[in-house]
Amino acid sequence: MVDLIILGSGMAGLTAAIYAARAGLKPVLVAGPEEGGQLTLTTTVENFPGFPDGVQGPELTERMTQQAEKFGTIIIRKNAKSFSRKGAEFEIGLGDESLHTRAVIIATGATAKMIGLDSEKRLLGRGVSTCATCDGFFYKGKDVAVIGGGDSACEDAIYLTKFAQKVTLVHRRDSLRASKIMRDRVLTNEKITLMWNSIPKEILGDEKGVKGVILEDVNSNETSTLECDGVFVAIGHNPNTELFKGILELDAKGFIVTDKRSCTKVPGIFAAGDVQDPIYKQAITAAGSGCQAALEAERYLDEKKIK
Ligand code: NAP
Repeated sequence: MVDLIILGSGMAGLTAAIYAARAGLKPVLVAGPEEGGQLTLTTTVENFPGFPDGVQGPELTERMTQQAEKFGTIIIRKNAKSFSRKGAEFEIGLGDESLHTRAVIIATGATAKMIGLDSEKRLLGRGVSTCATCDGFFYKGKDVAVIGGGDSACEDAIYLTKFAQKVTLVHRRDSLRASKIMRDRVLTNEKITLMWNSIPKEILGDEKGVKGVILEDVNSNETSTLECDGVFVAIGHNPNTELFKGILELDAKGFIVTDKRSCTKVPGIFAAGDVQDPIYKQAITAAGSGCQAALEAERYLDEKKIK
């Protein structure tokens, strides 16, 4: 039995670990399947405060991991396979063993949805990206394609016009799902071209980068090649909340519902980062909510001990 278990090792989980460990809670952090979280998929992070020359995503997570361990966080490099409530306490199954805790911070993040092409997987980080704010800067004066028709795709397309000379928004239907304001902005932006009723069949490129996308028209089944230097997949994110269904309140898209203080409706369970954030999804906001969750967990455990 420990006081605090943190699930997830991205920005939110690591920040929570730094704060909780420094407060003397001796947290146990279960790293999960992608240690370091989504930042490990990016290259240079230029908008994390304190790094005027940018920092490599993996380096930032590595430094935060060291910081968390320095203050006494115990990191278990395994996946949480089950989660259950035992009265006022919680049990986390890791397959071959179980952990028991008085409080838990869920920071399991969200995973960008992918189209599902082999070429997309092969070229991820080499011209295929799921994060326009992370990687848009590298496409100054180039041509890029954005896949998707929701707010994320529209937002990415608009953002990318700051850098790219031409942005092609590729959508599988003939109308955008995005909100009216975003639709209007996209449709009136002269740098953005819409490619309706189209789905990517293959992304062309090699280790040096992307060269284009083969698109199929969903009505005629005809294929065409769109030449471009980058492909941004923006078809949504899935929060990693499978384990918590039936225990925690989730919104319609599966994100954990928290209040302003990172508390869930279940006493002793806190949530931080992208797993509870359908809006901002930034490294710095994830870190901020990880801090909040740790402070709230500390307060919760203190009150429990007094009682
Ligand atoms: P979303 O609303 O679920 O939209 C996903 C888009 O990707 C849809 O247009 C969908 O097509 C398309 N898509 C899904 N799977 C696909 C596939 N396999 N191949 C090709 N296309 C595929 O997701 P989102 O845009 O990330 O938005 C998520 C939530 O965050 C929304 O509530 C949104 O309003 C909000 N958000 C708001 C803002 C903002 O207000 N600034 C910015 C970003 C996100 P269909 O339309 O055919 O289903």
